[in-house]
Amino acid sequence: MSKIEMKTPLVEMDGDEMTRILWKMIKDELLEPYINLKTEYYDLGLENRNETDDQVTIDSAEATKKYGVAVKCATITPNAARVEEYKLKEMWKSPNGTIRAILDGTVFRAPIQVKGIDPCVKNWKKPITLARHAYGDVYKNVEIRVPGAGKAELVFTGADGKEIRQTIQEFDGPGVIQGVHNTDKSITSFAKSCFNYALDTKQDLWFATKDTISKTYDHRFKDIFEEIYETEYKEKFEKNGLEYFYTLIDDAVARVMKTEGGFIWACKNYDGDVMSDMVSSACGSLAMMTSVLVSPSGVYEYEAAHGTVQRHYYKHLNGEETSTNSVATIFAWTGALRKRGELDGISELCSFADKLEKATLSTIESGKMTKDLALITSMDNVTVLNSENFIKAIRETFDAM
Ligand code: NAP
Ligand code: MG
Repeated sequence: MSKIEMKTPLVEMDGDEMTRILWKMIKDELLEPYINLKTEYYDLGLENRNETDDQVTIDSAEATKKYGVAVKCATITPNAARVEEYKLKEMWKSPNGTIRAILDGTVFRAPIQVKGIDPCVKNWKKPITLARHAYGDVYKNVEIRVPGAGKAELVFTGADGKEIRQTIQEFDGPGVIQGVHNTDKSITSFAKSCFNYALDTKQDLWFATKDTISKTYDHRFKDIFEEIYETEYKEKFEKNGLEYFYTLIDDAVARVMKTEGGFIWACKNYDGDVMSDMVSSACGSLAMMTSVLVSPSGVYEYEAAHGTVQRHYYKHLNGEETSTNSVATIFAWTGALRKRGELDGISELCSFADKLEKATLSTIESGKMTKDLALITSMDNVTVLNSENFIKAIRETFDAM
């Protein structure tokens, strides 16, 4: 059988620790035997980020803008301990943060569902995709611990010097105050990313805020979504038989529990943070979750939602056996390859991605899995495989297909 040829290179962002080990195994066992992989390689491993003064991260994001599709391995976000461990020149910023700032995107995360690993919510038959706005609100807040009696005011001073002023509270004793913001620009790109992703994946889009209480702030989100939908997306949604609807966050939470899934749930930054944790926990494991950053200009970066699995890596370095789940990293590759196939009109690449995903899920459904899944499965008689043998088992399933 001849290998599948690619046209445009994928931007390949290599990473750290256990996921870096899995990365190579996946390429060697599951990709390179079948595809003449064309990638532009960026080594985002911490050592190389340190050597290049983190320029490599910026270069990889710029390359993503140029080519349109990237696949990223999990990377270490340095803290004080890492600075010591890797003798870093400085505490480099989170690569994901740097890349998101350059690509300006929304993060979409969806559980990978498989028979035998059942969601706690029984009627969830299809994955629920969370679309989390990744800018502003409480994540970029300013807070004051009010020491005692006094007046708190909200003041905006325009570029022309004009003031808008409102009383927040007349305090008669100690308390707390908080200032948060967002921008029309960021909300607009959030909205566009959500509408594009819904069209792309042919799923309905839900959006919810607390606009009955937050009549200006949350209402602005609602209005921007509505305006963009009406002017730019309504026709396309109708043509594809898709629905966009806005509802109150309380109503959305109640409805989510009663649906069978299969839609995109767009959330403000904080709601997205907690709701994605809820959805992923209800579905079993972080290693069974896809994650893609979509920019409003239509650039895609696929990754795993989990980290570098440090504890497993140290075992591996000690020569001990590991059973690390590679599903999310495999799905990062298949997501990126499928998108590349779609953009370049290479249908073999798209069917390869479909087939590899199917082989991965069938392997688990046949009872062969890593330890994390064995602990939560409802299946009897499972075989727990080590990191390498799990990937090899997927290859056997794939070849048999
Ligand atoms: P983590 O790598 O997600 O791992 C936390 C724990 O979750 C692991 O110790 C393991 O539990 C379990 N786990 C996660 N992924 C797994 C997998 N694929 N298979 C099996 N078990 C899995 O989080 P962390 O240990 O807090 O962070 C490690 C490093 O990753 C940090 O340096 C952090 O900066 C980085 N990080 C990167 C990203 C990213 O690049 N997107 C995201 C988050 C964190 P057991 O040990 O109990 O088996
Ligand atoms: Mg969280």
